[in-house]
Amino acid sequence: MGITESIVSIVLDKAKESNAKKVTEVNLEIGSLTQIVPDCIEFYFEIMTKDTIAKGAKLNIHTMPTKAKCLQCGNVFETPELDLTCPKCGNLFSQITSGKELAVTSIEVD
Ligand SMILES: [Zn+2]
Repeated sequence: MGITESIVSIVLDKAKESNAKKVTEVNLEIGSLTQIVPDCIEFYFEIMTKDTIAKGAKLNIHTMPTKAKCLQCGNVFETPELDLTCPKCGNLFSQITSGKELAVTSIEVD
């Protein structure tokens, strides 16, 4: 719920910056490692925006895959199972590079 609260405040800030009268669409990027359930966000977003200009805005939620980068050969690979073994060289030590993001990438306004 706290997450949705911050999303709503970012959206309303952005809308204010562009002097919007209404927010029609919100594009969100959520890393799969955050374990955020899109349905929950949609549910709370609707409640929290009820009395704002973002009421009824469509949420486009893009789930970003978990990716890791091999520390030995530099190979970047998707790792949904959190297996950090590099599929290219077999090195066991890789660094998670994405999957933890939560960002409002853009909004559409009227
Ligand atoms: Zn490697």
